[in-house]
Amino acid sequence: MQLPPSLTVRELAESLTVSPVDVIKDLLKNGMVSNINQELDFETAAIVADNFGVNAVQGGAAVATAAEGANGASAVKPKSELFSLETDDPGSLRPRPPVVAVMGHVDHGKTSILDAIRESKVADKEAGGITQRVGAYQVEKNGKPITFIDTPGHEAFTAMRARGASITDVAVLVVAADDGVMPQTREAIQHIKAAGVPLIVALNKIDKDNANPDRVKQGLADVGVQVEEYGGDIPLVAVSAKEKRGLDDLLEMILLVIEIADLKANPDKPAAGTIIDAHLERGRGAVATVLVQAGTLRVGDPFVIDTINGRVRALVNEDGEKMESAGPGQPAVVTGLPDVPNAGDVLEVVDSERTARAIAAARVETRRKAQVAAAPKQRLEDLFDQLQEADVKDLNLVLKADSHGSLEALKGSITRIQDPKVRVRVIFEGVGNVGESDVNLAAASEAMVIAFSVKSDERALEAAEKQKIEIRNYDVVYNLTDDIDRAIKGMYEPTFKQVFEGKAEIKMPIKVPKIGLIAGSLVTEGRISRGSVAKVFRGKEMVRETKVESLRRFKEDVREVIEGLECGIHLEDYQEFAEGDVVESYVLEQENP
Ligand code: GDP
Repeated sequence: MQLPPSLTVRELAESLTVSPVDVIKDLLKNGMVSNINQELDFETAAIVADNFGVNAVQGGAAVATAAEGANGASAVKPKSELFSLETDDPGSLRPRPPVVAVMGHVDHGKTSILDAIRESKVADKEAGGITQRVGAYQVEKNGKPITFIDTPGHEAFTAMRARGASITDVAVLVVAADDGVMPQTREAIQHIKAAGVPLIVALNKIDKDNANPDRVKQGLADVGVQVEEYGGDIPLVAVSAKEKRGLDDLLEMILLVIEIADLKANPDKPAAGTIIDAHLERGRGAVATVLVQAGTLRVGDPFVIDTINGRVRALVNEDGEKMESAGPGQPAVVTGLPDVPNAGDVLEVVDSERTARAIAAARVETRRKAQVAAAPKQRLEDLFDQLQEADVKDLNLVLKADSHGSLEALKGSITRIQDPKVRVRVIFEGVGNVGESDVNLAAASEAMVIAFSVKSDERALEAAEKQKIEIRNYDVVYNLTDDIDRAIKGMYEPTFKQVFEGKAEIKMPIKVPKIGLIAGSLVTEGRISRGSVAKVFRGKEMVRETKVESLRRFKEDVREVIEGLECGIHLEDYQEFAEGDVVESYVLEQENP
């Protein structure tokens, strides 16, 4: 059967000669809530059609079969395995450079520090050449390479983490000595803690007259980052990006911190890595910076990145110089990609271009199916089900509120919620609207976002939609804690199903003073009861769904009327019925206990 690129539920039902209700039910089974006028894309429609035993094609072209993809799919290794060392022979492991991310509040000097470190190391090489930002670069200290992720701001960091790619070994938190702990400093700290990577504080701008290191250290202690001099174990290095002071100390500290981590990887296998940055470039097409994490990437290697497949045409380093290969911990710019990948995507080298193509095709197919099956990651409603599966569950929350006062109030009430089976954890909190990075953080931590008297940015809403993250809006603390309480007790918003009860045929409209028209009817099957759901059918079409407001027999109000008896049915807000219409009555039965 041919289907257009887009059609409504109703149109699809008509094409399949089934009831729209059945289509809606089928979509619901796959986690998609729809209504009769909902637009469906071809992919979704095709899956529904398939469930009704109909093979759908679009515009005459055959639907791609999953067969080829399915073969290829078996060649796809899970991400955890790609980067895990467990499958590597211990003898094949070699030391690899650490990967460092630089984070902090805007204007505290992240870019300046990244630039200063890089310049001091490549100054001689460059000699007037233009330095390009490609998202990552490598420097050497004491003969040991260190890789810096050169994407200022933590957006990239969280976006990547949200995709399950944790690529950094060390985080450098930049705090300006003349400013102190600011909102994005706090945010960065929470991200770093959530990622569980070691932290080094770079106290920047110490050249400034109004630099006040003690205030910064105290401020950090107040947010749970105890630096060494304050009795903690977080190293702090004082630097000035402007005067290029302390940068060597910072590099030394990075090497010191990662020494115990004993970072290793196997360079002698097909490469796998993460895309750090990607864009379209005039004359070079799509260009991506990949951080190789396992194996060695070589010119000519067939690869797949998400649904993009191809062959490595050329590799260059951050200075634009040609490279033959890039090993673990090394960034490289890959040119000549057929499409622009997303930061955070994984590049995987496979045995042949054919395999790469098959894997990409399989992913397109899987995505299509997953779209229909997608269900929110954590919803209060699901909590009860999950509780029955696991002994103790975490209910992870990202809290955004309009003021510190409300945040404190919220946290206070939330921590008072005690349940032996559920641990309510606030993994991130902040003042202000819900932004994209909040949603990314929620995705990374399987959390839901609580927006308290704040709005959500457009991009946050898009990200939430895409990643199926639930954003719940509240204005009253009590409502939130109440919802959580109820969810924990498994009593959240009971769901109901409609159970067919009976049918009546409308014989004539009857005028009743004060009420208007009621339907003089004969119950032809089962029973009709007061308060039940009433569906009015004209022929095959349902013209209205409403409620049985009241029932009458001989001017008496009755609770129900059974088969074979006549009665007057008063339908809530509906008087447009006609003789011959059929009223079906459904009662609601609670589905969850
Ligand atoms: P970012 O937003 O964190 O990347 O901050 P930038 O690196 O763009 O720096 C913000 C401003 O602070 C710029 O005007 C820099 O010139 C200045 N700045 C950065 N580092 C230093 C420093 O060590 N000392 C002084 N005095 N100014 C600095």
